Formats: sequence, C-alpha cells, structure tokens
Amino acid sequence: MRNNVFDLSGKNAVITGGSRGLGKSFAESLARAGANIIIVDVVRNEQTEKEIRDYGVSCETIPFDLADFDHYAELVDTVISKYKKIDILINNAGIQRRHPSVDFPKADWDLVQAINQNAVFFMCQAFGRHMIENGYGKIVNIASLLSFQGGFTIPAYTAAKSAVMGFSKSLSNEWASKGVNVNCIAPGYIATEMNTALMNDEVRNRQIMDRIPAGRWGNPQDLGGAAVFLASSASDYINGHAIVVDGGWMGR
Ligand code: NDP
Repeated sequence: MRNNVFDLSGKNAVITGGSRGLGKSFAESLARAGANIIIVDVVRNEQTEKEIRDYGVSCETIPFDLADFDHYAELVDTVISKYKKIDILINNAGIQRRHPSVDFPKADWDLVQAINQNAVFFMCQAFGRHMIENGYGKIVNIASLLSFQGGFTIPAYTAAKSAVMGFSKSLSNEWASKGVNVNCIAPGYIATEMNTALMNDEVRNRQIMDRIPAGRWGNPQDLGGAAVFLASSASDYINGHAIVVDGGWMGR
C-alpha cells in the first residue's frame, strides 16, 4: 500500500515487559508493521525474540529490572549508542497484587507504585528527553479500565493506573509541540497470566463475562491495532488520549 500511514519501517521501538503477555503481542504487532524491537524485561525470552525476528525486523532483549531507577540513564545510553534513535516507547510492564484494602500490605503498595506508576513516568522522562532532542517520538503508556474505575481488592493497582492516565496528559501538554505524542491504551479484561486468579474464580469470571458486550475475554492480539495506530503517523494529531479496548465494558 502506498503512503501507508501505519507503516513503521525503519522505526525503533522500546517495549517494556515485551517478553510475554500483552507486551509480546505489542512487539509482534509493531514488528509486523516494520519496526525494530528492543525489549526491556527482567528475563530474556529467546523464543519471543525469534518469533519477532521472523517478521524481518531486528529484535533483542535488554535484561533490566524497572525497579532499578538509578540506572535508567545508563539504559537509555546503551540503547541510543546502538540504535542512534528511539522512535517509539511502549510502557507495558506491570504487576498486580490483590488484598482486601483493610489488610493491604505497605510493601505490596510500594512495589505496585514503583513498577506500575514510577517506572512508567521515569521511562517517559528518560526516553522523552531523547525524543524531544530528535523532535519526534511516540509514547504509549498502558493504562487500564482501573484508570476509570475502582475495582475490588486492587487499590494500589487502581491508584497507579489512574496516575498513569493523569500524568500522560501532563506530559502530552508539555511535549505535543515538540513532536512527541504521549497517549495511553486502556485494555479491558484480557486473558494473560496476570488474570489467571480472576479467570479461575468462577463467580468473578461469570460477573466479568456477563458485563462484556462482546461476550468474551480479550486476547492480547485484540490490542495490536491500537498500538500500531498510536505508534504511527496515523495518530500525529492525537495527544493525551486513552484508547479503551474492552469489548464494550465501559459502555455498559
Ligand atoms: P503479564 O504479567 O503477563 O506480563 C508482564 C510483563 O512485565 C512480564 O514480561 C514481566 O516480566 C514484566 N515485568 C514485570 N515487572 C517487571 C520489572 N520490574 N522490570 C521489567 N519487566 C517487568 O502482564 P500483562 O501482559 O497482562 O499486562 C501487561 C500490561 O497491561 C500491564 O501494565 C498491565 O497492568 C496492563 N493491563 C493488563 C490487563 C489484562 O487484562 N491482562 C488489563 C489492563 C491493563 P517477568 O516475565 O519477568 O515477570
């Protein structure tokens, strides 16, 4: 297709938590559109790398714990010295901790904020600086329905995901005029390891399914189109937005 606004050929994309789950699916979707993939994850997954290279792009993993805030600058230097420019950043890595709010342990609260909120902001800052210098960048932060709603027994996750949607707008206000788009994807209920407990809970699983107009849990692949859209020039005039991909949950 000529003048394909979704084409990502020659673009370099950093994806956190890209070894498995939604992150892997984002990596595959961007690779299919032509982007080279740099996965930032705790552990390297060679099978994922191979599957992504099969799309004819490069793919490597930089093993890195996003809780290691003191080394973000080093991470950026490592990536830039090899790739020269980073065009796309998808802040996908996230964790979940479930406890009734009256018993929510401080350690779990802090851990969820560290990975789901602080890491997202400081990765935006670290790579955003570079993108501003280049006058070009697409940042996609993975929010959640819990950026809009409260949920049950997940107050730390809800706080963090609400923050991500909020500060994505703040960054967008500062960076839109500098050629850097900051947006979010808010996935609905997607069948990944993170939701195993929920899917195995017969009552909650039924309640969730009953509310999804599409009548099914989402698959990681359901999010690929939104990711390519926000990573491509098709979304050049979209700033500070959150695309909800939820089979209709929010409209119910
Ligand atoms: P998974 O648990 O399946 O995968 C999370 C990925 O993040 C893993 O690769 C994991 O690495 C990585 N990760 C976790 N902690 C760190 C860390 N400290 N440093 C580097 N990488 C880390 O989650 P999902 O794929 O389901 O979720 C991906 C994102 O989407 C999350 O932000 C989540 O909150 C969000 N989301 C998911 C929904 C869903 O229904 N699944 C709904 C709404 C939002 P490792 O393999 O080492 O654990």
